[in-house]
Amino acid sequence: MSNRGDIIYDVVIIGAGPTGLFAAFYAGLRGLRAKVIEALPVVGGQLTILYPEKYIYDCPGYPKILAKDLVKNLYEQALTFNPTFVLEERVVNVKPISGGIIQIDTEKNTHFGRTLLIAAGIGAFSPNKLNIPGAERFEGKGLYYFVKEKSQFKNKSVLIVGGGDSAVDWALNLKDYARKVTLIHRRDVFRAHESNVAELFKSNVDVKLFYELKSIHGKERVEGATIFNNKTNEETFLSVDDIIIQIGHKADFSFIKNWGLEINSKGVKVNGRMETNITGIFAAGDIADPIDSVKINLIAVGFAQAAIAINVIKKRLDPLAPLYEHSSEKRL
Ligand SMILES: Cc1cc2nc3c(=O)[nH]c(=O)nc-3n(C[C@H](O)[C@H](O)[C@H](O)COP(=O)(O)OP(=O)(O)OC[C@H]3O[C@@H](n4cnc5c(N)ncnc54)[C@H](O)[C@@H]3O)c2cc1C
Repeated sequence: MSNRGDIIYDVVIIGAGPTGLFAAFYAGLRGLRAKVIEALPVVGGQLTILYPEKYIYDCPGYPKILAKDLVKNLYEQALTFNPTFVLEERVVNVKPISGGIIQIDTEKNTHFGRTLLIAAGIGAFSPNKLNIPGAERFEGKGLYYFVKEKSQFKNKSVLIVGGGDSAVDWALNLKDYARKVTLIHRRDVFRAHESNVAELFKSNVDVKLFYELKSIHGKERVEGATIFNNKTNEETFLSVDDIIIQIGHKADFSFIKNWGLEINSKGVKVNGRMETNITGIFAAGDIADPIDSVKINLIAVGFAQAAIAINVIKKRLDPLAPLYEHSSEKRL
């Protein structure tokens, strides 16, 4: 499907966490054209960013499943009906315009929907950036906060900064692919899955504890880095081609305050039909605070709320359609 901003979609979904991904699938199941807008270059929301290597035990149908594997399955399922995915666009404003259309402005584009489903979780994620003067000029030129293409590191010398799941995961992922992988971490305690940390120390990855990045060198792109030991202040120069920074993320919820929605500290107020106070705008998942109900921030609850919202949206756009269908079928 086209990513053109001027096409009016039946439903635009903000957020590609588990709620948004399931809503995208469900919209297709009900014959709706859906567009998903996600601030990050990756899908999966909190599962991808906060706990990709953690097992989830309370997802229906899976006795246990790694968060990253659940995301993979949800994404595959979401693609069943070819929704449009717009990544790396953060929604900054939404407003109803004439003809019952909702205008959705991102930092880069304007999108239009006949309805809008906000599945923005705990807010738009963005990576914590390095506090090193001049580091910005290397972004995309050897300095990365997200890895999109593993192939770009083939036979390269890569420095990974961080001690969480993502840093360890990327080190293990690249260890037999890149020419050399060095991982520096400012402490000796990792916030990553124990078995992965054990594998890391057994691997060919050069792990340097109590080291931090001091400066990046290069003319047009990264050519090297100076790291320092935060206990001894000893500095070391590393000749590296690429630097991957994985030092956490922050979630920003503040943007939503100016959209005219009724919100409180728990999220966007919705009724039992997942409708907000603005006609045509719905909310589901962690961001939704159902009035006269309980707020439960769990993946399964987000799935159910996504299904309710999409079925209500279908009925709103097509009053002759049934509210829901008992039996799911793949009609393309
Ligand atoms: C450590 C941890 C462990 C957990 N374990 C479990 C568990 O075992 N089982 C369970 O059921 N739940 C668990 N949860 C809770 C579960 O992760 C959440 O309930 C779930 O992620 C909510 O999904 P969501 O799609 O509503 O929101 P999110 O996962 O937060 O996804 C929202 C997405 O919207 C995007 N977004 C937000 N604002 C914008 C914007 N303005 N423009 C564009 N994109 C935007 C964000 O970048 C994000 O990708 C856990 C949570 C944590 C933190």
